[in-house]
Amino acid sequence: MTSTVDSEEAVRAAAERIAATGVSGLRFGRDPVNEPMIRSWTEALGDTDPRYPELAPPAMAQVWTMMGLHGERDPADPFGQILEVLDEAGYPSIVATNCEQTYHRYLRPGETLAVTTRLDQVTGPKRTALGEGWFVTVHNTWYSGAEAVAEMLFRVYKYRPAPPPPPAGIPPLVSKDTEFFWAGAALGELRIQRCGACGELRHPPGPMCPRCQELRPEHVVVSGLGTVYSFVVHHHPAVPGHTGPFVIALVELAEGPRMVGELLDVEPSEVHIGQSVRVEFQRRGEFAIPAWRAVEV
Ligand code: ZN
Repeated sequence: MTSTVDSEEAVRAAAERIAATGVSGLRFGRDPVNEPMIRSWTEALGDTDPRYPELAPPAMAQVWTMMGLHGERDPADPFGQILEVLDEAGYPSIVATNCEQTYHRYLRPGETLAVTTRLDQVTGPKRTALGEGWFVTVHNTWYSGAEAVAEMLFRVYKYRPAPPPPPAGIPPLVSKDTEFFWAGAALGELRIQRCGACGELRHPPGPMCPRCQELRPEHVVVSGLGTVYSFVVHHHPAVPGHTGPFVIALVELAEGPRMVGELLDVEPSEVHIGQSVRVEFQRRGEFAIPAWRAVEV
């Protein structure tokens, strides 16, 4: 197996070899500079300069030598060559990072353009948020006959995509009715709603007492102790923030109400009804989510 250093050296050596070949041969555009294309382009960009389409906008230089949907790059093209080297070295993704164009004059319909390419610089490997990769700078010159009419410095970042960060989990939906619960969780308190009229504890929170129908919700902080009343083992579908099968328990609180939550760090085969558990708050960004952990009694 090739070591990383060897592969970096191979990229550098290939870059040097390709750069040493200098400027590529001329590649001609498929069509001469033409009014219909100028009209479509200026309309699409909303450019109402009255000199168009008798003249072509200089920024269209690249348009006249585009390869088209099914065009194939010349194998001798330095840009294509370095991209291939980086593909093979394990850097398959690409993003354009810089484009600086220089215009020498306006073009006119009827002119036929050709472009040359030169590999200017390959630097790396670098580390960016996208992943490890190399910056590749190429230089293009457009010609009408022997006259250079436009130039472009074009830089891309050719990289190996970084693995996505672990998902943060799904944040809870906070409403007027549940705000107190999540505020408590953030403080490490398990808050349970209590009816201000009859004292009934209830969960999940809601505006009205199911026993006396009064709209006077209050809350108490409970012990965070309970027992497994029932449970399921979740296999599919995948849930952000979780890997592998995990246990979701319906926990009966010592104070009475039942609450659903994950039972942490247990083998599904070892969970049993009646098992003693204690609440444990799991940080998920700005939220803390109550989960459960088995305890010895
Ligand atoms: Zn009540």
